[in-house]
Amino acid sequence: QSQELSQARIDYHAALLALQEYGTRMVCTGKMHTDRICRFDYLCYCTEAEEFVFFHSNSSFMLPNLGPRRFQPALLDLSSVEDHNTQYFNFLELPAAALKFMPKPVFIPDVTLILNRFNPDNLMHVFHDDLLPIFYTMQQYSDLDDEARLVFMEGWGEGAHFDLYRLLSSKQPLLKEQLRNFGKLMCFTKSYVGLSKMTTWYQYGFVQPQGPKANILVSGNEIRQFASSLMEKLNITTRGGEESAAEEKDEYIVVFSRSINRLILNEAELILALAQEFQMRTVTVSMEEQTFPSIIKVISGASILVSMHGAQLVSSLFLSRGAVVVELFPYAVNPEQYTPYKTLASLPGMDLQYVAWRNMVEENSVAYPERPWEQGGIAHLDKEDQEHILASKEVPRHLCCRNPEWLYRIYQDTIVDIPSLLEALRATVKTRPNLKKAKPASTVHPGQVREPQCQTSVQATNEAMLTVSWQIPWNLKYLKVREVKYEVWIQEQGENTYMPYILPHQNYTFSENIKPFTTYLVWVRCIFNKNLLGPFADVLTCRT
Ligand code: UDP
Repeated sequence: QSQELSQARIDYHAALLALQEYGTRMVCTGKMHTDRICRFDYLCYCTEAEEFVFFHSNSSFMLPNLGPRRFQPALLDLSSVEDHNTQYFNFLELPAAALKFMPKPVFIPDVTLILNRFNPDNLMHVFHDDLLPIFYTMQQYSDLDDEARLVFMEGWGEGAHFDLYRLLSSKQPLLKEQLRNFGKLMCFTKSYVGLSKMTTWYQYGFVQPQGPKANILVSGNEIRQFASSLMEKLNITTRGGEESAAEEKDEYIVVFSRSINRLILNEAELILALAQEFQMRTVTVSMEEQTFPSIIKVISGASILVSMHGAQLVSSLFLSRGAVVVELFPYAVNPEQYTPYKTLASLPGMDLQYVAWRNMVEENSVAYPERPWEQGGIAHLDKEDQEHILASKEVPRHLCCRNPEWLYRIYQDTIVDIPSLLEALRATVKTRPNLKKAKPASTVHPGQVREPQCQTSVQATNEAMLTVSWQIPWNLKYLKVREVKYEVWIQEQGENTYMPYILPHQNYTFSENIKPFTTYLVWVRCIFNKNLLGPFADVLTCRT
């Protein structure tokens, strides 16, 4: 044991020497603070000042070296929420020589991922802002493996869903408040700072009203890979694969109920109606009565998930392909303006059917004007403002996060009008939910068509022909594709419109609208199964 101790001392000594000699080293990806992740050797953190420290030495480096632009507004976003001014990361600088006068640093030997959780008490935020981005940031850097250490710097306690964060690595995540236990100065031997935003699909309305992100980069496949990884870690087995006839018949509906607020007041009636309409067993789950892993297990086998709008609906990412998500909205709340779960269900390859239902009958709604403002109370407002809210039939578009009219309406309880709900379901759920048949569709895109060529001939002073031919894309010979088509665009040089054609074969002779002694630009691409577009081949210049 004494040998182990002395070994540790040698390591410590070596680490201290390395820090003094090399200082901190930083290399980052990303052009802007909003798309940046940085990797550090010997990034330090002073727990008293609550500041990260970069030690300059003769051999330290810092890329990007932004000078004062590092503060305009920050080096990077520490959470996955874009450009939020409470989530910025930066560090202070010191010469490595200053270490002589500072408390002895404690070294953290684990490869560390340092980030802010955005709102760890809200399940939607937990999955969308934290778990998915952490999972895929770890996929991006191979040394962020199962042994990696997560460090949460937002300053919250564990929060209601800490067990979910624990699934991402075998080591216990560290909270900001726990860093003090390591002493006054701690140094992360190897760390990554920041989160990938590649998987996020929703913006919460800080600068413009909430809605889907402008440029969504994630598909259902990545969401489902993440979901199966979590389920594997929780030892939840899916119903996929060989199923017995009995299991196949055991289709069921899940009503995810909230028991604290935003209630469904006629839940029993709703459950009976759903069971009768679809001839399926109908069960309820709630965060107040079950553990989240047991809820995931139930949801992963469900054919239909029904719930009031709310964070618990992010659990639809555990539904099987082909399942239906039914989101209920209280009176005066327009479903089209609050679409985090619709957007999730509609991601390409997510293969969920989505239905929104909205309470249109004010009498079927119970509001709580006397509650605190964050639960939708409006008693604190001027009489005039209160009356305005009470008279309104729809919450106007608004920014996050304290709009009293929005909070008042979204925290209403609802008596669900069963006939109108069933009508909405029948209108949207075209095919009966069928989990067995829902296989992932191919997402293999065609390559470029090869050897595109054109031949031209002039028949008469006003008659010409243009023959275009090409070879199949290289990857097609290895694929079984249901339908292969080609798209050809023909543009007369100098014109800004073109004629598009969809063609079944590898050549075609155009004679209509083709003029003699004219130059045409021709683009050709391949299309698999109607919507998988390939790239255009290099443009052909064809003179008749
Ligand atoms: N929540 C719950 N049951 C309730 C009310 C809330 O499980 O009756 C959960 C909800 O799913 C979310 C968190 O508590 O994870 C915060 O809920 P809130 O109403 O603030 O947010 P929202 O659901 O509208 O996003």
